[in-house]
Amino acid sequence: MAVPVSQMWTVATYVLRQKIAGRKRYPLVLMLEPLFRCNLACAGCGKIQYPAHILKRDLTPEECFNAVEECGAPMVSIPGGEPLMHPEIDKIVEGLVARKKYIYLCTNALLLKEKLHLFKPSKYLSFSVHMDGQKEHHDFSVCREGGFDIALEGIRAAIDAGFRVTTNTTLFDGADPNSVRQFFDEMMEVGVESMMVSPGYSYDKAPDQKHFMGRVRTRRLFRAMMSNRKKTWRFNQSPLFLEYLMGKRTYNCTPWGMPTYNLFGWQKPCYLLQDGYAESYKELMETTEWDGYGTQSGNPQ
Ligand code: SF4
Repeated sequence: MAVPVSQMWTVATYVLRQKIAGRKRYPLVLMLEPLFRCNLACAGCGKIQYPAHILKRDLTPEECFNAVEECGAPMVSIPGGEPLMHPEIDKIVEGLVARKKYIYLCTNALLLKEKLHLFKPSKYLSFSVHMDGQKEHHDFSVCREGGFDIALEGIRAAIDAGFRVTTNTTLFDGADPNSVRQFFDEMMEVGVESMMVSPGYSYDKAPDQKHFMGRVRTRRLFRAMMSNRKKTWRFNQSPLFLEYLMGKRTYNCTPWGMPTYNLFGWQKPCYLLQDGYAESYKELMETTEWDGYGTQSGNPQ
């Protein structure tokens, strides 16, 4: 099963509560970025280009807990930067587990094996390992020879120690659908719980601007990859998202349009776009011009 029943139940009851409360917009996932620095420098990354004084900073565990409580989403994704470089990442995870949040700790896994002892296996904690495809492709994508092997070692160590482990894969222009399909087989054989796959959404700050796919190329790639998908592949993302990426359905926004809290506050309007910051989650929801975003808004972003 791609996601444990308890997690599905938590999300389903949360959605029901939002419907009963008559809320029009509510997040399933909070993106919590406790730092921006990283031990890699991927060409498609839009996070590590901040000046040194910003890269040095960390959110405190208390700031993280306040954001999580303010937002109320049942799942918390912790990207970065590289969260395992945060000096108090164990405290942050422990506090979120205590709050019964389902956490996806997004890591490039270079430090996973050596930091595993900081964490306890829990149904609330998954390591979501950044794997951009088969060995050669991943190493090229993260600009680090040998990065794939180190990450794979981390994945194996985490699975052996009883942790939930998933993968997250970002695809850029030129990705070979056959190679990605083989990569899915490899990850299933290694024993990861499930996989997430997404096109690289263009970040203004990323040094490599050439390889972000537009909608047409995204649809072509995902159709080639997913039309005849194997029953053995497990994904931890909605099948509706995959159909959206294949061009079989349309939505007014990307499914990654999630609220984001980081060193600057609540990013407006979401994880992917950066149109200023709000001081509170309430302010984010109430002052963002939501109709000014999305595929039907006319906003080119
Ligand atoms: S691992 Fe993630 S945060 Fe680090 S450079 Fe690569 S994309 Fe950016």
